[in-house]
Amino acid sequence: MKLIGDYHTHTHYSDGVSSIEENVVSAINKGLKQVAITDHSFSHMAHGITLKSYAEQRKIIEELKVKYPQIEILHGVESNLCGLDGTIDVSPEKRSEFDVLVVGYHYTYKPNGLKNFFGFWLPSVLHLNTKNKIQKNTEAYIKAIENNKVDIIAHLNYGIKVDPVKIAEVAAKHETYIELNLKHMLFSDEQINQMVKTGVKFIISSDAHHYTNVGKNNVAFALIERLNIPHNQVVNLNDVPKFKNYNLNQKY
Ligand SMILES: [Zn+2]
Ligand SMILES: [Zn+2]
Repeated sequence: MKLIGDYHTHTHYSDGVSSIEENVVSAINKGLKQVAITDHSFSHMAHGITLKSYAEQRKIIEELKVKYPQIEILHGVESNLCGLDGTIDVSPEKRSEFDVLVVGYHYTYKPNGLKNFFGFWLPSVLHLNTKNKIQKNTEAYIKAIENNKVDIIAHLNYGIKVDPVKIAEVAAKHETYIELNLKHMLFSDEQINQMVKTGVKFIISSDAHHYTNVGKNNVAFALIERLNIPHNQVVNLNDVPKFKNYNLNQKY
């Protein structure tokens, strides 16, 4: 098993501590062929990128592409799931500028409007046992997948509990990948086995917040071995994944 790319990494532009260049160099040193920079998006409280820092990132990445031609650098974002209706905090126009769209739930997004504040954010923050909560959270992810060109669903069950198998069924149809996240691996073995049966594709992500963790794969590799997950259902094993808004450089 060989990890080809890491498509979920943070820098000091959000809550990571390393520079974009440090992440890129670390990816090269780990033998990766692709790396994505995916800082938290616009509505993340305190740590979200701004339009200004987005433009700065873009400029740096363009320069690093020239400096390090041995690796492909993708500019992505980790968007927040913001409401039960599946809204995310990256507009369709802005989305078209990102190579990779990761979507995940974080307590730290700024709720947009009272409905989202009382219906989605507050119950999750206070761990309220509202009626049909898991079902509603699951629906929120499903609508996000259906309504946005989502490449990767990050760390399911982190922050809000969901039915990952139902989400996997929809993700499989939309060619959206489910993360095996090195920081938050929150599935039972049974859930993973059921997800495999849906035909969904998984992606291994370090979710690195420090450059040394870029390309980390140990937990995911052990899980793939132990549960016998077919290698062709993990898109960044031995190959490069397809992303909805990124024209793959076919040199690999
Ligand atoms: Zn996250
Ligand atoms: Zn992250």
